[in-house]
Amino acid sequence: MLLSIVAPMYNEELSIGEYIKQTISVLQQNFTSYELILVDDGSKDNSVAVAKQFAEKDSHIRIVQLSRNFGQEIATTAGLNHAKGDYVILMDSDLQNPPSMIPLFYQKIQEGYDVVYAERKERIGESFLKKFTSRLFYWVACKMTGFQLPRNAADFRIMTRTVVNALNSLRENNRYQVMLYAYVGFKSTSIPYDVPPRFAGETKYNYTRMFKTALDAILSFSSRPLRIISLVSVFISVISFAYAVFIFIQYMFVDNFVEGIASVLAFVAIMFALLFLFLALLSEYIGRIMIESKRRPLYFVRDEIHYTKTESEINKEKTGDH
Ligand code: UDP
Ligand code: MG
Repeated sequence: MLLSIVAPMYNEELSIGEYIKQTISVLQQNFTSYELILVDDGSKDNSVAVAKQFAEKDSHIRIVQLSRNFGQEIATTAGLNHAKGDYVILMDSDLQNPPSMIPLFYQKIQEGYDVVYAERKERIGESFLKKFTSRLFYWVACKMTGFQLPRNAADFRIMTRTVVNALNSLRENNRYQVMLYAYVGFKSTSIPYDVPPRFAGETKYNYTRMFKTALDAILSFSSRPLRIISLVSVFISVISFAYAVFIFIQYMFVDNFVEGIASVLAFVAIMFALLFLFLALLSEYIGRIMIESKRRPLYFVRDEIHYTKTESEINKEKTGDH
């Protein structure tokens, strides 16, 4: 049985060393056959240099260096593509996903599940705005996609080879892991956990980025917004037509009939507002079709760093002691 750990890292020079130490120590104590795949998502700091120091001494560690920053979702995808394990665990490299959960995941999945994910307990001290926006996102996303998205489910999870293969077979550019998990399905369960604060450094997400992710997630997984604008359009057409008939009748039968300018302006304003809204939504979809139709590779690998021999093996060879 081979266990793969996949962790994306982007400018994590302050925490990556500690992360590798803690993770490797948990793995060493609990497993005989494992690999730790660190995907460098175009870090601009010394993350790779730090990780490399560990990789040189431990053949279990592999570093997949991407050609630039592709974003967490693509970095995770790259890691899943490179993992060879029978089971694969996804986790962040900032120690917000405690390595001590690795053996718990493994135990739980033995009970006959395909996926075991970590479920964040309600985070205390999180701002009202963050809680509210996250609730809103889940509500809209569930309504629009028809998936029952588990709330508070992180990327932090263990999956069987079958599930990883299913995820790997989805090659769309606009990826949103939470949706992809729901899309592939499989039998899953969760383990609750407390999210510790970051070991060091700062979150890579701000509200603009989260808004972009939320919009991407919904629009690339659902065509329901299009269905909604069709329905609204039909409704408005019917009302408009009825109103036109009403005006016409008045014009025919009421002497000196003049429609007020206020109602005309209101009508035009509402129509234009809706028209532009619908056009904007259509453009969002067309933009996505344009991107997807190029069928570009999801990422480029600049370098793969893997030292096949452990230090003790090298020393053994030097002394001729096999
Ligand atoms: N990450 C990445 N590429 C990015 C942004 C983030 O690979 O463009 C990694 C990051 O190094 C970390 C994980 O994704 O291991 C989660 O990021 P972060 O901790 O910033 O997110 P948060 O925990 O605040 O949601
Ligand atoms: Mg984090």
